[in-house]
Amino acid sequence: MDRFQVFDYMQKHQYEQVIYFYDKSTLLKGITVIHNTTLGPALGGTRIWNYGTEEEALVDCLRLARGMTYKSAAAGLNLGGGKTVLIGDAATIKSEAYFRALGRYVQSLNGRYITAEDVNTSTKDMSYVAMETEHVVGLEGKSGNPSPITALGVFHGVKAALQYKFGDSGIDKYTFAVQGAGQTGYYLICHLVEAGAKKIFFTEINPKHIERMKQEFPQVEYVKPEDIFAMDVDVFCPCAMGGVLNEQTIAQLKAPVIAGSANNVLLDEIADGNRIKDRGIIYCPDFVINAGGIINVYHELHGYVKERVMADTQKIYDRLLEILAIADNQGITSQEAAKVFAKQRIEAVRQLHSNYIPR
Ligand code: NAD
Repeated sequence: MDRFQVFDYMQKHQYEQVIYFYDKSTLLKGITVIHNTTLGPALGGTRIWNYGTEEEALVDCLRLARGMTYKSAAAGLNLGGGKTVLIGDAATIKSEAYFRALGRYVQSLNGRYITAEDVNTSTKDMSYVAMETEHVVGLEGKSGNPSPITALGVFHGVKAALQYKFGDSGIDKYTFAVQGAGQTGYYLICHLVEAGAKKIFFTEINPKHIERMKQEFPQVEYVKPEDIFAMDVDVFCPCAMGGVLNEQTIAQLKAPVIAGSANNVLLDEIADGNRIKDRGIIYCPDFVINAGGIINVYHELHGYVKERVMADTQKIYDRLLEILAIADNQGITSQEAAKVFAKQRIEAVRQLHSNYIPR
């Protein structure tokens, strides 16, 4: 197999910077990727993972950083895309010194990159990072848990998709199947119940979450994980893991609308995006509909005001209508249309900055 050519990949996808760092006293070993800073500093969380190879870590970091560029651009935020991956076993490697060492590397980038928590890192870990750098968000006592805001954004997205498909966003007229009642799925179900949804089904694999649903929402009906795709409902809401929509599961879908919080829902973005489009199903692109969390931390950088966060999260509704219309007008998938939308914004701002303004 050919060796992975980093510069070829950077050129192909227009990356700005790849940074490797190693701290000998804490064994901190990581990579930060800055994909694009046209709109502002690159923001993306720090993930710890026991990668099999360094190349695997690099490829993951490159892919995730690029995703952050599109997510923030489509969300209308003045942020670029970046990511950090730390190679190691999260169960044994963490310490105050480890995260302070990370903070020092983040500080050395002088604000070109802002970090946050991600898989296997917590707000507590980030509080150590914050001892060494101001370029970190998602701290305890600041913007708080992003999940309720992510779920609220998804709820706005569900309404936009219903409006687009049926010309009526009244939740009380529709039925829903929610996959995953964890951090985001639970709050989404709360919104759907409150808005008077006609019927909600959910599935879960965590007995504690099933029990919570039984206690709080006995009217929301449990179905087995393998049955959720074929439910005869109006909206399928994937709120568990990525890659759940593939050739087999898409064939089972009866719902004419897909709108949920999960990242990377399409196993193969192009092939599965087209399968969904060919079936005439409305698909809300994951990085657009689940942007509430990034909107929430973004406001931490500018003085956190809850009302402004809510107003920005509400904009997911109009943004989705615009993206769904681009997809139809151009005959492309909604996932592709979301990228077109994000890239157009980046390009417009890049052009805007072409003249010199003395400051
Ligand atoms: P979570 O772990 O709190 O919830 C996911 C739930 O799905 C869990 O309760 C788990 O038991 C359940 N689950 C897993 N596999 C399942 C299966 N096969 N069938 C049924 N249930 C299953 O995670 P979360 O924070 O709610 O995130 C869900 C998705 O949303 C993830 O893809 C995440 O990346 C994405 N997301 C979350 C946020 C956020 O603010 N939390 C923001 C953006 C994107």
